Amino acid sequence: MNENHAGKMHEFFIITSDDVQRALKAAANNEPAAQMPSVQMALFAIGGAMNEVIKRGKTEHPMICVCCGCAFNAGQVPKAFGVLLPMFPQEGQYVGAHGICERCADRADLQEQILKTLQEQFPSWQFSKASGTRQ
Ligand SMILES: [Zn+2]
Repeated sequence: MNENHAGKMHEFFIITSDDVQRALKAAANNEPAAQMPSVQMALFAIGGAMNEVIKRGKTEHPMICVCCGCAFNAGQVPKAFGVLLPMFPQEGQYVGAHGICERCADRADLQEQILKTLQEQFPSWQFSKASGTRQ
């Protein structure tokens, strides 16, 4: 992980697996919305996270749900992702997708929970909810 000094402000999105399907379909159809840098970055981050889920699912350090800490593996994949995108994108900045399990995806306080976890993991960073984020 690269901690860039200028890059501590991040936008935060909740992206469900349905959103991912839609974005992939839009990309396949060459729709302009799919070409937006934020969409591209989010898909890239989610692809990386899914890779980690599968790879680490067999180890003693699986990826865990950002809300409840349950473990993911090939048989239990995230239902949604909390995606962090830099507000001022620069080379080498952190773009990350954090898995959310099926149970937590329906929580009413999902955003607050994720923000709390992120704030603990990255104490010096600033997070703001992206506009258009599901309430
Ligand atoms: Zn969970």
